[in-house]
Amino acid sequence: RPVLQVEGVNKIYANGTVALKGADLTIRQGEFVSLLGPSGCGKSTLLRIMAGLGDVTTGTVKFWEQGYDVVGDKGRKLAFVFQNATLMPWARVRKNVRLPLDLEHQSGAETERKIDDALEMVGLKGFDNAFPRELSGGMQMRASIARAMVTEPNLLLMDEPFGALDEMTRNKLNDDVLKLWQKNGWTIVFVTHSVYEAVYLSSRVVVMAARPGRIVDDISIDQPFPRN
Ligand code: ADP
Ligand code: ADP
Repeated sequence: RPVLQVEGVNKIYANGTVALKGADLTIRQGEFVSLLGPSGCGKSTLLRIMAGLGDVTTGTVKFWEQGYDVVGDKGRKLAFVFQNATLMPWARVRKNVRLPLDLEHQSGAETERKIDDALEMVGLKGFDNAFPRELSGGMQMRASIARAMVTEPNLLLMDEPFGALDEMTRNKLNDDVLKLWQKNGWTIVFVTHSVYEAVYLSSRVVVMAARPGRIVDDISIDQPFPRN
């Protein structure tokens, strides 16, 4: 069933750049969708619009779980992971992961259990009291994934999430995200300019082209590699 629906979205920035032209895209429950295309084709613009972080010029974005338009709405259940971990440097790992629950004024034993689960899921059990600067770049990204998933969002949006990491760390994190998706049935939209990453990771590849940014292909991938 659909989670999010982008219909006829055009985006023209204030300086006149046409970043998206006629984008139509429906994300369904349980899909791992890669947005693939060269730099400047509008991938980030589309992802940010899905997240409600940017306005459309024309068109609509609907968040189907609640059955209403996501643009400008604060009640949507989605999470965003950026290229940098964007952790609060003055706060310990546990406090960083707790942030979205604090914002929802959640507390108590159930909340602590959710934080424990999120930390364990990403392999950061026992790092509660570390400060971000004491962690490697990969571990910082793990903390940002834990923070994203601690509220159990319906949709995880990732904008070239591991692009700032060295190749080996990136591959390990990609593999772990793939396993978490397979295990937990997350719905993911993942921006990349790597054909390899798109094909290796996702169940569906949406290909974009630049000038003006538009969707030119939409390919389903059925278990391309043996997965363990
Ligand atoms: P991608 O993520 O595929 O690299 P972007 O969505 O970042 O592409 O950008 C699409 C186009 O919109 C590019 O031409 C980019 O330069 C332009 N663009 C992005 N953000 C802005 C902005 N805030 N103002 C003006 N132009 C922008
Ligand atoms: P080889 O078999 O030659 O060691 P692979 O087929 O494993 O190479 O990988 C081919 C390319 O894809 C390499 O650039 C490699 O770093 C990259 N790659 C491998 N595994 C992953 C992964 N899990 N996520 C993203 N890229 C990967």
